[in-house]
Amino acid sequence: MQRVERVVLAIDIGGTKMACGLVTADGELLASERITTPRSDDADVLFGALEQACRRVIGTHAAQPLAIGVGCGGPMRYPEGIVNPVNIHAWREFPLRERLSTAFELPCTVDNDAKALAVAERWRGAGQGANNMLGMVVSTGVGGGIILDGQLLHGETGNAGHVGHIIVWPDGPPCGCGARGCVEGIASGSGLARRVGAALAEGRPTILGPDATAADVAVAARGGDLLAQELYCTAGDAVGRGIASAAAVLDLERVVIGGSIALLAWDLLGPPLEAEVRARARLDFTRNLKVVRAELGDQAGLFGAAQLALALL
Ligand SMILES: [Zn+2]
Repeated sequence: MQRVERVVLAIDIGGTKMACGLVTADGELLASERITTPRSDDADVLFGALEQACRRVIGTHAAQPLAIGVGCGGPMRYPEGIVNPVNIHAWREFPLRERLSTAFELPCTVDNDAKALAVAERWRGAGQGANNMLGMVVSTGVGGGIILDGQLLHGETGNAGHVGHIIVWPDGPPCGCGARGCVEGIASGSGLARRVGAALAEGRPTILGPDATAADVAVAARGGDLLAQELYCTAGDAVGRGIASAAAVLDLERVVIGGSIALLAWDLLGPPLEAEVRARARLDFTRNLKVVRAELGDQAGLFGAAQLALALL
């Protein structure tokens, strides 16, 4: 007798790419598609492109999905699933959950992409076996998802886990949130780029130009540029301090770090980060904290969204 597969539709929405996939309850990715996020100011053009991609993916397989899970950049209203992604200007107060649920006649949940990464890594990646963990995304911004006692934390408004706004340098560089010295303002891709601009304005010697990205800073650091090395070293310090603080508050056993900066520059970010965690996490219960790199790469978003959808069944 053939086993009936429980399948969900997983959707990962980013400022440059959108992905959708069919995922089984056992964590098998049956089919997927990745499209470029349309550069349009029309909310319906974006939604139409996403819907068509989802229909193509669903059409490739006999098993029909039972629910939809979405990981999307914030901010958003949770659990309503009304999104205002920083990197997608066309979607302002866009009712993504309702639109998907109506289009496919399925239950749907929409959550923050960093929370999706945390559940994905615990399910299929570097967080397996951890009941108390922080999944962290170091990318254009710095985000996080907290799993305590085996449960993903949501908080009053669904925003639990915003570890990028732990303040680690009093009077440090400005952050997009309006404060100064947040981890995100120092270590995110946008933070690193802004810090290059500030260093150039101070006349610091470097081969970096005013349009340097975090990837350019990594190449320069490996080539011996002292400013670029300092930027990554202090970024690692900042993330490490944030982790030490979070570990003390949350009593964590593991921290899993993903996101594009962690993927492309772990050789630069990882050593100062780990040294700072060891230096700052001094309580008995934080001394055995493990800090590891994420394993799922750009598939974390889909597996996380699938796990969020499976929780609806
Ligand atoms: Zn901030």
